[in-house]
Amino acid sequence: SESPKSHVGIIGMGVMGKSLALNMAEKGIPVAVYNRHVPGKEEKIASDFAAKNQQFPLLQGFDDLEVFVSALELPRKILLMIPAGEAIDLQIEQLLPLINEGDIIIDGGNSFFEDSNRRSDELSKKGIHFLPMGVSGGEEGARKGPSLMPSGNKAAYDLMSAYLEKIAAKDKKGMACVTYVGPQGAGHFIKMVHNSIEYGEMQAIAETVHLLRFGLKLSLPESAKVLRNWITGGLKSYFLEITADILEIKENNEFLLDMILDQAEQKGTGGWSIQTALKYNSPYSSLFEAVTARQLSANKKDRSDLSQIFHHRFRAFAEDKVLMLEHLKNAYALTRIINHETGFKLMQNVSDALEWNLNFSEIARIWTNGCIIRSSLMEDLAEFFQSNHSIFHHKALIGKIKEWKPDLAYIVGMGLQHDFALPVMSASLNYLLGRITDDSSANLIQAQRDYFGAHTYKRKDDPEGLPRHTDWTTLK
Ligand code: NAP
Repeated sequence: SESPKSHVGIIGMGVMGKSLALNMAEKGIPVAVYNRHVPGKEEKIASDFAAKNQQFPLLQGFDDLEVFVSALELPRKILLMIPAGEAIDLQIEQLLPLINEGDIIIDGGNSFFEDSNRRSDELSKKGIHFLPMGVSGGEEGARKGPSLMPSGNKAAYDLMSAYLEKIAAKDKKGMACVTYVGPQGAGHFIKMVHNSIEYGEMQAIAETVHLLRFGLKLSLPESAKVLRNWITGGLKSYFLEITADILEIKENNEFLLDMILDQAEQKGTGGWSIQTALKYNSPYSSLFEAVTARQLSANKKDRSDLSQIFHHRFRAFAEDKVLMLEHLKNAYALTRIINHETGFKLMQNVSDALEWNLNFSEIARIWTNGCIIRSSLMEDLAEFFQSNHSIFHHKALIGKIKEWKPDLAYIVGMGLQHDFALPVMSASLNYLLGRITDDSSANLIQAQRDYFGAHTYKRKDDPEGLPRHTDWTTLK
């Protein structure tokens, strides 16, 4: 007799696809899985699962796309967990002749949101529902409870939501870390900004740990202890937790961190965000700096040579350690707030331009668990955004920002004077000052532009803001 139909199909049995399939099967969702031409991969996953759970056919493996597709209940719900880019277009092309109008294709990879916008439009013309979906939490999140950011066709989302709610992480009130974020590729856009906040956060912590180790001369375990104190002292976050672990972990009696080559790599989402920030005119210097820091790190040979030529070395602070630690904690905490403000501001600008009507409270809420940037700050923001837009207008945070601004200025100043590069901390401070300065230096920029290029300027005393030009040389 014919096997019962699966409720969801997953294409791509890599790290993420396999983990999501196991997560679904474990939650009682009948899943069919398929992977291009690697013989046996799907069957092995399915039979390993069955051996442990004796619940076959909750997970069925297929090596033939057509048979896989025909094993799915209608309307079909097919989740792609394959690399972004051409692979997605090719896979959709292969699926189209095999599926029906009303079927749903979900792209759970890290696709560029403008590609997802295009695919949404193309597929909706063909009557196929497309759900671009950001997935965060890495392998462990996918297996045990990811944060999910689906977008696109709302009716299709409603057919899919019960499954997504079952597999997603839960927030502190027990609600699933999944929400319909908006039309078109909004889900991939949100995931991209999530990764940008992640870039800034990682670099800010890296700068902080460098100051702890080489400015304050703390050992790795002492530095870990400092971070753990911060975690219990109001700065709880997944990134601080894993960093504290990393600082303590030894392999063959040596600290593993010191054995790791200091060349940072990247997969491109940071660059996509920079492109998007430029396109939508949204200042995002901390992300630029985080990406630049990775780029600068890449050429180790050049850095080693130049460090000899310039006799570069970190110089330790002579100041009182306890006081410095207090300054540094506040400086890091403020950098983290500013890093979130820039990310949410980019989302606001794009949401306004594309009329996506993004709900920032819900976005922050689904980022409070299951994803890499979860933190006590994110929990705070989920509540705050229920009635507000900009983090810099958060009543409780305004007090902290005012209180911690001198600490960040002090740490950036001291750090730079002692030869530490602090790209994200200093960019964050500059961004904050840029946002809160009333009379800025931009009048001089306008004067220069008009002087050399007749680009015109507006006057402060002209309410209509008419463009004016001055023949500057005649006034010399
Ligand atoms: P992965 O482990 O490299 O697996 C990729 C899967 O896609 C493999 O099963 C591979 O099959 C298949 N594949 C590769 N090229 C294909 C093509 N042209 N057509 C059809 N299938 C193809 O990748 P992953 O880490 O699971 O990531 C999948 C997606 O999720 C990516 O977009 C990634 O950016 C995103 N993502 C990853 C993470 C993470 O932490 N890893 C987190 C969130 C999102 P073969 O075995 O035959 O090569």
